[in-house]
Amino acid sequence: MKRLLVGLICVSVPFLALYGAVSCFFPKESVKNTPGSDYKENTYDIYVNNHSDEEDVPALSAIEKQLLVVVDRDHALAADFEPPDLVNITDFGIRARDKSMQLRRVIIQDLKAMFDAAEIAGHKLMVFSAYRSYKTQEQVYNYWVNTLGQEEADRSSARPGHSEHQLGTTVDVTALDLEGDVFNDFGSSEAGIWMAENAYKYGFVMSYPEGSELLTGYKYEPWHFRYVGKKVAKAIFENNLIPCNYLLFLATKNKK
Ligand SMILES: [Zn+2]
Repeated sequence: MKRLLVGLICVSVPFLALYGAVSCFFPKESVKNTPGSDYKENTYDIYVNNHSDEEDVPALSAIEKQLLVVVDRDHALAADFEPPDLVNITDFGIRARDKSMQLRRVIIQDLKAMFDAAEIAGHKLMVFSAYRSYKTQEQVYNYWVNTLGQEEADRSSARPGHSEHQLGTTVDVTALDLEGDVFNDFGSSEAGIWMAENAYKYGFVMSYPEGSELLTGYKYEPWHFRYVGKKVAKAIFENNLIPCNYLLFLATKNKK
């Protein structure tokens, strides 16, 4: 269990923002007035205002809709949701903490390309945590409830169904040769900076960027990247958007 918990550190989210049920989707005024947020310029509203025409909203393919499901404090995956095409990532030459780690086959090519590009740039990336089932998340959450009590557990662990890792398209990445904390020191490492600047080129976005905790409910996690495909990742990166905000925007527009 101890090893499991180390791998699950990124769902141990101290919900500093638990001053209420925090939604990713904040109305305009809330974003502008959020104290301590680096997003107070309200990049989301600027984007939406500039893309209000229907033609500006990208239509999503069936596979994109599957990849872009919103998973946050307010949106959960079903208990029986399991990705259809899980594979062991080390079989594809992707460095991982152990051989049992799995992700969806549909993202492997871009993940491998990202790792290869990082290596050429001098960074040996490693997957520290990958797919996690609803059951695994449930065990972790219950462990914290038993250890800390319900209230404190909710401040430090995602409830089952609310972790992006259940999608099978989300990775916690660190650097093989990183000295110090594999997670918290990654963001300021050269490899972490490379990831922050380049992951979007391969379809990955940082779900919980620095300064967004009051909006996402999660603290800054420079190691946690979710695959959304290159087109969507580019839009999020270039417009400095919080991923869950943009995914909600796309989901809403594509319902029409
Ligand atoms: Zn994570």
